[in-house]
Amino acid sequence: DRLVAPTAKPREEQQDRAVRPKRLADYVGQPVVREQMEIFISAAKNRGEALDHTLVFGPPGLGKTTLANIIAAEMAVDLKTTSGPVLEKAGDLAALMTNLEPGDVLFIDEIHRLSPVVEEVLYPAMEDYQLDIMIGEGPAARSIKLELPPFTLVGATTRAGLLTSPLRDRFGIVQRLEFYNVADLTQIVSRSARLMEIDMDEAGALEIAKRSRGTPRIANRLLRRVRDFAEVKGDGIVTAVMADRALNMLNVDASGFDHMDRRLLLALIEKFAGGPVGVESLAAAISEERDTIEDVLEPYLIQQGYIARTPRGRVVTPHAYQHFGLALPARLQE
Ligand code: ADP
Repeated sequence: DRLVAPTAKPREEQQDRAVRPKRLADYVGQPVVREQMEIFISAAKNRGEALDHTLVFGPPGLGKTTLANIIAAEMAVDLKTTSGPVLEKAGDLAALMTNLEPGDVLFIDEIHRLSPVVEEVLYPAMEDYQLDIMIGEGPAARSIKLELPPFTLVGATTRAGLLTSPLRDRFGIVQRLEFYNVADLTQIVSRSARLMEIDMDEAGALEIAKRSRGTPRIANRLLRRVRDFAEVKGDGIVTAVMADRALNMLNVDASGFDHMDRRLLLALIEKFAGGPVGVESLAAAISEERDTIEDVLEPYLIQQGYIARTPRGRVVTPHAYQHFGLALPARLQE
């Protein structure tokens, strides 16, 4: 149970919804994505067409679901939501698609986890708005074609490399979400505090932002925990001192790292002499799934320059030694 997990915890979706931006203008940061989507959405609306299919990729908690909702709101259409692992049979997808109104957005989260049979049905649906499905079994089975209204598929995935290329090629728009900088996260935390009627000063927002691993979902979660702390241990006002005390108590350090990050970095330093080491060996050494390392732990550590990926495996950088107050090994000393 990780306080800085980037994925949503039970009940959190509901708390998140209260602070989730609804329009593009409220979507903080991601200037490239925002500018491009503004243009594509305006153009599609002016032509009275459905927006092109859009693929959004980026680590969990960066705003993929939020962006899908914003696209539907800006296009003034409905959004239907599902996810790759939920669509087991072709019929599951057909049921959803035959309920779409013209222009609607169909959001498929974790689209890299679609089964191959479902993916096959998706191709003609995306390309020609046609559904080819088999009904019946044995000698009586036949295939039928259904016309679908023009719609927009928004697919979300953590890594673009996980998608098959025929699927990736069918998206006209591809957006990559980046980790948020501290200024953007400060703005997100301040906006959430306002909506949740939390008393907070600017320095308090900054302290939470710095420890949120570039991830809005984590920023909002830390804000809720610091608020609890400030209400019980202080006068309810979220200041930098309150945020620091609360987050120290919760074992989130000044860089936003927790025990799992520290374990990963220390394993690299102590068990593998700083690397290079393959992700499988690293996974075995810290008893974590390879996917957890690649999707959850590593992206932020790489982006912040604590770990680097080389052709021979992962290596730690001088930053990581400095973080723990350790002396640099001889090979990193020039
Ligand atoms: P993902 O689908 O990538 O896992 P979400 O879209 O569910 O992430 O985002 C998690 C939460 O973070 C949202 O509920 C929202 O409150 C917040 N959030 C995400 N992106 C932004 C943003 N650009 N500006 C403000 N808040 C954001």
